[in-house]
Amino acid sequence: MSPARMDPVTAAYQAWTEHRFYAYRGCAPDADTPSRAAGNTALTLDAWTGTTEDGGEDQATRRERQDAAVEVCLNCPVMVQCDVYGGMVGADGKLLDPYGIRGGRTALERHRLLVKSRKEPLPLPVPAPDHELRTEQKLSVLRALAVHESPEDVARAAGMDLRTANWQRARITTQLGLSKTASRAEVLEAAVARGLLRADEVAVPAPSVVSVPGGRRGARGRRVASVPGQLSFFEAGPALGAAA
Ligand code: SF4
Repeated sequence: MSPARMDPVTAAYQAWTEHRFYAYRGCAPDADTPSRAAGNTALTLDAWTGTTEDGGEDQATRRERQDAAVEVCLNCPVMVQCDVYGGMVGADGKLLDPYGIRGGRTALERHRLLVKSRKEPLPLPVPAPDHELRTEQKLSVLRALAVHESPEDVARAAGMDLRTANWQRARITTQLGLSKTASRAEVLEAAVARGLLRADEVAVPAPSVVSVPGGRRGARGRRVASVPGQLSFFEAGPALGAAA
């Protein structure tokens, strides 16, 4: 079935689980120690969901576990797709996947975003002045984004680690006055319009996915086209105590 005909939930699930880097997700079983997470072998696989043992865990332990898992998410190659699926809402208006960490957000953070999205329309950010966009790092990311699609390639071409590149892309998108759900094409178009890129630097046709990834807690942005009728965490930006 083509993505266009698919229901949004199935499309989001497939975009995540059939992504070419899904096998390399941070919470996948480590190849050598399958009970541990590939992204951090100090973590067991239940770090994303919490213990099911009697007595549970105390608050400090839970926070430590969640922070460690989120740190892995922030460097996960499918964080954006995972975050989109983690924000999917069912016909009953509740999260389809209400437990555990998804896309760098805890279950509580995802629930809070959902509640927030029901209460208030989310305004577009105000475009930033040129000098805030014309930093060496942001221009490097924009030039890389103009010719690369995958976050890893963008980071490599921009000469920075994935997390920094993702964070810069999130900032660029909002500083251009775009919604965090803006597509890569929209980001590039706005950058050209602002004179940050020349049109001839945009070397590949921009697809309708991917614009903003991001960091956690205040600097987290996301990419991947929003799905009509579904909660988009990108729109809520940094409001939640936290995209993933
Ligand atoms: S972003 Fe999703 S797939 Fe990646 S490590 Fe986090 S929970 Fe796992």
